[in-house]
Amino acid sequence: MISDNIKKIQKNIEKSCQKAGRDPKEVTLIAVSKTKPIPMLEEAYQAGSRDFGENKVQEIMDKHPALPEDIRWHMIGHLQRNKVKYIVDKVALVHSVDSLRLAEELSRQAGKKQAEIDVLVEVNIAEEESKFGTSRAEAIQLVEEMAKLPHIHVKGLMTIAPFVEDPEENRKYFRQIKELSVDITKKNIDNVSMSVLSMGMTNDYMVAVEEGATMVRVGTGIFGERNYN
Ligand SMILES: *Cc1c(COP(=O)(O)O)cnc(C)c1O
Repeated sequence: MISDNIKKIQKNIEKSCQKAGRDPKEVTLIAVSKTKPIPMLEEAYQAGSRDFGENKVQEIMDKHPALPEDIRWHMIGHLQRNKVKYIVDKVALVHSVDSLRLAEELSRQAGKKQAEIDVLVEVNIAEEESKFGTSRAEAIQLVEEMAKLPHIHVKGLMTIAPFVEDPEENRKYFRQIKELSVDITKKNIDNVSMSVLSMGMTNDYMVAVEEGATMVRVGTGIFGERNYN
């Protein structure tokens, strides 16, 4: 059951926090509800979830009006510039900004709606060809350029670690993201905060929390396997 899954994951997050000497209140569990029908999201809502992650603009547009207003929607998937206008005033956080051109469009569309938009910079920490995200080397420059844009606020970093059998294999990548966020913090850039680290999924969220994640994105672990047919 969805509520049991959420409880179990929250317990695991607490355990990982204990291990790392962290306060569990620092960690937000994002229920990744992509491909899942609204009744399943309602079940998660009843169990206490207020943060939902989606990777398609169309799905956010369909689900947003059907669910309670106190839900915080997280755009976690690759975002095309021509679709920014549909979600800029519906999402609490865009996790997947990896280019200045996308950031400029988010800034422009937020301005049009007299809104402010919070974003994370997606870093392809393992430099996998199949993945979106800026390289570690380019991340700082991108953050510096984004900082100058109006209506958009960098709040931290996001990464999708490689798909591995043993989550321990990803510990080094989570550590590198944390280090990168510390390096950026030291630069004291105006309009930039590194308070959010969005990392860890069903397979590796416990390791990610041990290494400093403040948001974990869990889909399968809450809602079960996805069916793309
Ligand atoms: C689908 C997805 C997740 C959730 O993955 P699970 O392995 O099902 O927990 C997390 N982050 C992103 C960016 C995703 O696209």
